[in-house]
Amino acid sequence: MKYEKNQCFTVRITDYSDEGLGIGRAFSPSEGISPEEGITVFVKDTVIGDLARVRLTKVRKTYAFARLEEVLEESPDRVPVRCPDAARCGGCQIQMMDYEAALGWKTKKVRDALTRIGGFSDGEAQALVRRAVGMDDPWHYRNKAQYPVGTDKDGRPVTGFYAARTHDIIPRLDCPIGDPANEKILRCILEVMRANRISAYDETSGRGDIRHVMIRSSRSYGQIMVCLVASRRDFPGREILAGRLMQLPGVAGVSINVNPDRTNVILGKETVTIAGADHITDRIGEVDFRISPRSFYQVNPQQTQVLYGLAVDFAGLTGEETVWDLYCGIGTITLSMAGKAKKVFGVEIIPEAIADAEENARLNGIGNARFFVGKAEDVLPEKYETEGIRADVIVVDPPRKGCDKAVLDTMIRMRPERIVYVSCNPATLARDLAILREGGYEAEKVQPVDMFPHTVHVECVVLMLRKDT
Ligand code: SAH
Repeated sequence: MKYEKNQCFTVRITDYSDEGLGIGRAFSPSEGISPEEGITVFVKDTVIGDLARVRLTKVRKTYAFARLEEVLEESPDRVPVRCPDAARCGGCQIQMMDYEAALGWKTKKVRDALTRIGGFSDGEAQALVRRAVGMDDPWHYRNKAQYPVGTDKDGRPVTGFYAARTHDIIPRLDCPIGDPANEKILRCILEVMRANRISAYDETSGRGDIRHVMIRSSRSYGQIMVCLVASRRDFPGREILAGRLMQLPGVAGVSINVNPDRTNVILGKETVTIAGADHITDRIGEVDFRISPRSFYQVNPQQTQVLYGLAVDFAGLTGEETVWDLYCGIGTITLSMAGKAKKVFGVEIIPEAIADAEENARLNGIGNARFFVGKAEDVLPEKYETEGIRADVIVVDPPRKGCDKAVLDTMIRMRPERIVYVSCNPATLARDLAILREGGYEAEKVQPVDMFPHTVHVECVVLMLRKDT
């Protein structure tokens, strides 16, 4: 069968892609194509379980993209969305899926990655992977948001969210997964911009001042940090803007991040605080963390507590252990473990994050933590070769691409009793678990945690034990 653009098919949606597109196989009873032989199609705005009529929009060799024409049979998991812009916005992908069903799908996604990529059997994956831990109230969970600023067709400044896969701004100040306090801040910024003719940046011409507004908040201490991403440092009106923002409840500081470049990257290199504090403080478990505008910090504080709790639990600490925490960011996991271990070491590539980690250790009176700046794949092998460092527990929490092979090889040679793998990408997690298994480790348990409700993302904590202990 030759597939062409504009052909119509029926599809039963069975899965989601990493971008949140529904996946199913095209079939057509009238043309005698059964679901088994039909091409795989990706369809936006569908829910797993939907039976849909779709029209092909782009055909590739082994798959196609299609537009939803009509839902023929609604999935029992279809629910009304909370956000009127849910279908257009790039932020949430699966708001129209029942939350419990979404947790079930996320659990399955992790199991599937283990069998497809990690070489685990179905039985092993079933036994290892527990059901994803969700939130009781999976709304308004984010503590960080970045709003693009632009102009509407009358030239007035607007802010909101990018429509999926575009740079078109959907004006919206209230987001059902964002912090409710953001609305007031954004309203204030737009008002001051309009009254003082502060311009919004225009991507096409490269002119104008305000590019993005980044807001971060500490739920534990009720502090808010506003960072204005601007194309120049001293744009006119910035003092008025900072002054007005500082009057809003909770705003602890206002900074400007300077990004003069014609780029899609949101933040530039330089950040200056123009009013109030240059950081906010948040508390997770027993530890206070100081967060600068640019540091990596988990975006869902409630689930972060769950995630770190699991990581600490899986580490099985008694007070005697040496722990290495690779990809440590501002030292959140490292310091959460410090009180229960003999010594903890953190490794992180961003120098500012390590400065925060060291400051965080001091602030909390933690004396048994040391941090190193550098790539984990450089620092760990080097320390092992030259200083013969050892570890009872190694924690890794790498970015989406997973651990570098040199990190995994060195971990295997260091022979820690336990490896705790925190992952935001089941595919690279499965790949790396296979390597660690080959190296003498066995997976004990895999606990997915829903850090990002209404998106297709899923976080996992895994415990691996050395087989010959
Ligand atoms: N564990 C921390 C941070 C996890 S995010 C937390 O929970 O907050 C992953 C971190 O790895 C980021 O801080 C990123 O800057 C860092 N990173 C990315 N590549 C790295 C590398 N090759 N070596 C060390 N750190 C790296």
